[in-house]
Amino acid sequence: MATAGKVIKCKAAVAWEAGKPLSIEEVEVAPPQAMEVRVKILYTSLCHTDVYFWEAKGQTPVFPRIFGHEAGGIIESVGEGVTDVAPGDHVLPVFTGECKECPHCKSAESNMCDLLRINTDRGVMIGDGKSRFSINGKPIYHFVGTSTFSEYTVMHVGCVAKINPEAPLDKVCVLSCGISTGLGATINVAKPPKGSTVAIFGLGAVGLAAAEGARIAGASRIIGVDLNPSRFEEARKFGCTEFVNPKDHNKPVQQVLADMTNGGVDRSVECTGNINAMIQAFECVHDGWGVAVLVGVPHKDAEFKTHPMNFLNERTLKGTFFGNYKPRTDLPNVVELYMKKELEVEKFITHSVPFAEINKAFDLMAKGEGIRCIIRMEN
Ligand code: NAD
Ligand code: ZN
Repeated sequence: MATAGKVIKCKAAVAWEAGKPLSIEEVEVAPPQAMEVRVKILYTSLCHTDVYFWEAKGQTPVFPRIFGHEAGGIIESVGEGVTDVAPGDHVLPVFTGECKECPHCKSAESNMCDLLRINTDRGVMIGDGKSRFSINGKPIYHFVGTSTFSEYTVMHVGCVAKINPEAPLDKVCVLSCGISTGLGATINVAKPPKGSTVAIFGLGAVGLAAAEGARIAGASRIIGVDLNPSRFEEARKFGCTEFVNPKDHNKPVQQVLADMTNGGVDRSVECTGNINAMIQAFECVHDGWGVAVLVGVPHKDAEFKTHPMNFLNERTLKGTFFGNYKPRTDLPNVVELYMKKELEVEKFITHSVPFAEINKAFDLMAKGEGIRCIIRMEN
């Protein structure tokens, strides 16, 4: 490409300060260095994690910064040493990477890469500790190695998954974070047997994806648990068959679920981030075989308390990061699930805005409206 090796000037949505609307600016994007790629972003979407770090309440403020990590794009150019991908390849950026060389990447059981594991405080590239974005020579920081709210971005090659070029990027872009997390939590970690009963705590994007995973796995009852009943109608589309609002009951939700299921659910997946829901999700599984999976990110001071007898009675508690998917190895197969029409992605996409109106996506999320809003970079 004519732009390879040169600085690209393009539009990016810059967060100058915590909690202030993003502003579309012309930025300079430096060429990719060793083991890096420069990607033309075509579609991106907004996820809660962007909002948490943009608000920076209780998180380290790193500004000015370009947020965004759920996206789809095309490789524009590659740096030295990059052999896995080439210009023109379609890719999904991922907030956590896969170097393929560390003990985690070499283990079939882990996706927690030593080199490229998510680091929300770092605003620079790991290669040389510098940013690839600038405005008038002043650096603008990266976010989780992706910074997809820019027409072009630079990433470590270990943080991009090369996917089927036939896959529509305006749809599969949502598979690069929350949806794969929920889906993998059920399919890879909870592993519900066919015909089983699964409880999903929290029916946001991640929980709905966990429900979709239970549907795909062939669960026969999928019980959605949420404090917000406005979530229930939508959740039917994702396979939820029954609902429990803990506020409607004067007994613990564990007991409500045990009464509904003859002693407990076979699997539960917690997608709330609330510590009480985490404890409930564990204690509501059936003794003898029940498995609970924690996905939500808890408050930093939270402590998990339960009686050890709950474990002795053969209940299992697990947790997962990015649904246990290895980004480069496994994400292309998640895209194929969509291509084979086994996974329905369209129903997660409720809104779409042009890049110039990116702040509308933040407003929708603040109001809790919809599930995913696609931000179109080109129109
Ligand atoms: P969301 O805010 O859209 O949805 C959370 C839902 O949980 C809401 O509908 C809310 O009403 C419900 N809820 C809150 N407290 C509850 C309680 N005590 N009982 C029942 N329902 C309750 O969030 P999301 O985007 O779907 O993300 C869910 C969680 O997953 C977050 O904590 C997020 O940080 C986490 N997450 C984890 C990973 C990972 O790799 N482990 C990746 C992405 C997101
Ligand atoms: Zn690794």
